[in-house]
Amino acid sequence: MEVDENTAAALEVATTFAELGLAPDILRALSDLGYSIPTPIQQQAIPLVLAGRDLMAQAQTGTGKTAAFALPLLQKMLAHANTSASPARHPVRALVITPTRELAIQVHESVVDYKKHLPLRSTVVFGGVNMKEQEADLRRGVEILVATPGRLLDHAGNKMVQLSQVQFLVLDEADRMLDMGFLPDLKRILDLLPAQRQTLLFSATFDDSIVGLARSFLRNPLKVEVARRNTAAELVEQVVHRVEEEAKMDALLRVLKAREINQALVFTRTKIAADKLGRRLQKRGVQTGIIHGDKAQLERLAALDGFKQGKVQLLVATDIAARGLDIVELPCVVNFELPYAPEDYVHRIGRTGRAGASGLAISLVSHEEERLLAAIRKFLKRDLVEAPLPETAPPHPVAVVAPVAADGQPDIQPDIQPDATQPRCGRPRREPVCALLLPPLDKVAAAGAPAAQANLPA
Ligand code: AMP
Repeated sequence: MEVDENTAAALEVATTFAELGLAPDILRALSDLGYSIPTPIQQQAIPLVLAGRDLMAQAQTGTGKTAAFALPLLQKMLAHANTSASPARHPVRALVITPTRELAIQVHESVVDYKKHLPLRSTVVFGGVNMKEQEADLRRGVEILVATPGRLLDHAGNKMVQLSQVQFLVLDEADRMLDMGFLPDLKRILDLLPAQRQTLLFSATFDDSIVGLARSFLRNPLKVEVARRNTAAELVEQVVHRVEEEAKMDALLRVLKAREINQALVFTRTKIAADKLGRRLQKRGVQTGIIHGDKAQLERLAALDGFKQGKVQLLVATDIAARGLDIVELPCVVNFELPYAPEDYVHRIGRTGRAGASGLAISLVSHEEERLLAAIRKFLKRDLVEAPLPETAPPHPVAVVAPVAADGQPDIQPDIQPDATQPRCGRPRREPVCALLLPPLDKVAAAGAPAAQANLPA
């Protein structure tokens, strides 16, 4: 299943998208987006997908994996591109399945960007929102459908979508789909697809269950990986600070200040812990958003939108709620609590250091978490640097006067300003920090307010 030496050598030559053989209209879209050099997963995967091979690709969100599958699939569908109004001329040819609605939205947004000069149609369907608008899009016909498993089956069950002409299937974040118990749904979806098709499986980690999935879903797949097996993103600086539970919040603020970090994604293990930490940070005057599976979709999107605009400085999240968020240029992830599963550590730190940027992952580890840390070290097959907490800064008040914003939250900047005496890492961290590739809130609201949390347990 490995890429042979000749193929690998040929791939190394391709350093531009044009050399990868992509069509001019696709190249134009990439140039509009400012992509100049293919990322390693794109360099490896694009020629193989163009050659018609099934792929098992080990790549996390943030490596450019969406373009790695979307660009060659668009190219392969070009022959069918047409401007006819007839739905029959726009059958679903490429189906992309993702575990969460956030990832589905994000993948679809990338597809829309990449195909903007092509007469190919696409849409995205996910649970928790009204089905009507999705049905209308499906009825008009789309060549590319991005979907979460449950909602796709609902539409298929209602005969709103026909999958008998699917030529390309992409399983995105396959490991997470298995973690979330989607295997039965995936099998049901597979039954609706033609046996003759090209299948691409993307996963951040490859364990035996993924290999088993690949065996039953893929045909003679090639394996490509952009990082060593089960290794954490190498561009991410990983630091461990020993700190007892009750001192963690102060430690968090102190480290961020010392490192000149304006925004960070902060992980807790549970929803309760996320709520508790979020509230404590808010009380301290830190603009904090909270996302977890018990939060309504609109609340989560509002928190993300605030983060994107820089109004929210710390986003406290549980593992599943944070899955698939494409946070560009996020300099820092904090493990406020270590995860129970070492794989989740890899997923968490994959939120920073994306698409070639350097990143920082800080873990605040109490002595109760010793075993979890040991499990992570074992999983990564490497040691993690331990560093003392930065010295306490000279005391100064968090905020002397806290003007109150319209929403009743104190409108202040928290005390995480830079401390010049502390080392900085990687690139400067005070620039505009992140851009979440999610639709503006009004667009989601217009799609119908969500009722259930179908695809996002936490
Ligand atoms: P993904 O791993 O697909 O979620 O992509 C992560 C981020 O990298 C997204 O914001 C993409 O727009 C961006 N990206 C993907 N490929 C490239 C590239 N070749 N050059 C620059 N940015 C890219």
